Amino acid sequence: MNSYQEINAPLRTIMTPGPVEVDPRVLRAMSTPILGQFDPAFTKMMNETMDMLREVFQTRNKWAFPVDGTSRSGIEALLSSVIEPGDKVLIPIFGRFGHLLTEIAERNKAEIHTIHCEWGEVFDQEVIIEEMKRVNPKVLAIVHGETSTGCMQPLDQIGPACRELDVLCIVDAVATIGGTPVKVDEWQLDAVIGGTQKCLSVPSGMAPITYNERIEHILSSRKKVEKGIATSEDHVNAGEPIQSNYFDLSQLQDYWGPRRLNHHTEATTMLYGLREGVRIVLQEGLTARFKRHKLHEKALMEGIKAMGLKLFNDVAWKLPMVTCVKIPDGVDGDSVRKMLLEQFGIEIASSFGPLHGKIWRIGTMGYSCRKENVLFVISAMEGVLTRHGVQLNSGKGLQAALDVYESVE
Ligand SMILES: *Cc1c(COP(=O)(O)O)cnc(C)c1O
Repeated sequence: MNSYQEINAPLRTIMTPGPVEVDPRVLRAMSTPILGQFDPAFTKMMNETMDMLREVFQTRNKWAFPVDGTSRSGIEALLSSVIEPGDKVLIPIFGRFGHLLTEIAERNKAEIHTIHCEWGEVFDQEVIIEEMKRVNPKVLAIVHGETSTGCMQPLDQIGPACRELDVLCIVDAVATIGGTPVKVDEWQLDAVIGGTQKCLSVPSGMAPITYNERIEHILSSRKKVEKGIATSEDHVNAGEPIQSNYFDLSQLQDYWGPRRLNHHTEATTMLYGLREGVRIVLQEGLTARFKRHKLHEKALMEGIKAMGLKLFNDVAWKLPMVTCVKIPDGVDGDSVRKMLLEQFGIEIASSFGPLHGKIWRIGTMGYSCRKENVLFVISAMEGVLTRHGVQLNSGKGLQAALDVYESVE
């Protein structure tokens, strides 16, 4: 007999930029019995999920469906299905996830062009547009919400400029989808990748994506013609065949679309979770949900400042769902995080690269983005920092946050 116990995970207050707490309704949906992936009861759920994803992405695109795998599987599916060897790809980098886009584009043998700005800043859109004119890339790959620095890159002029210059605009909106507007059609974005474990508050394991006919055209030209999979009358096979089988979007769309051609075995349990997650998002309403994220961001920021701590970037381009706090001089950031977890069951995040040891990142995403969580993290931080010898304005943080909440009640 083995001695392993049944899983008994501790309850946590998760205030990181993902994975975040999951709505109990999503967890319940995920205990629904398994269906076969071609069962009409299941394909109906697939179609409903596609419909709801279109609304979340604010698009009329034909294609909006999840790729099975974590968010980067969506990024990888798009980049590997679109980039042909030698294609020029321009990547503006303003944090860690710009490097991820670069890494994936490189593996797909793109000719990479990058531009950089300081971590904590974003680009003036005009700078990116000028660089596109100079480089003349096939693809612009860019992050919308950089969780590593808590910055949000404006895209409303970049999308239309891409259309004008005939560049394909592929956007990583993993952190922002469901938490702040991602206007796929209005901003003229050609392809967008969302994340589940951030503002949608669904477990990690799927990547909702959407793309338009400009992308679909490339997929068609690169379609691998095989007996029983695609016939030659489907498309002219003009482009380099897509290397990846798992991430071949031309095959994935034949599986999600009316043809229902077999590709992989769908992750049915994840689909239940995603369907319930986006259903909850739309039930709350996108506008109300974005407003909620702004409210709790404000309460958190006011609380942090009133306590006597400094925000890393209290700027116009701050990412609403990630608040970066400067670690006071002489304080061991990881020791504070450890004590928050051990004494309070609260998780906040550290950071990467040039910001490691300099800031903490506090997420207010999806189901974790609630009043009691914000008040709890503010009071716990005061307690823990006081124990670490930091002089704070005792009691002021919580009162400032409560003031924000009272002002809207
Ligand atoms: C979290 C995140 C990712 C990566 O997501 P995984 O699910 O870990 O693959 C990519 N881009 C951004 C902006 C993110 O915040």
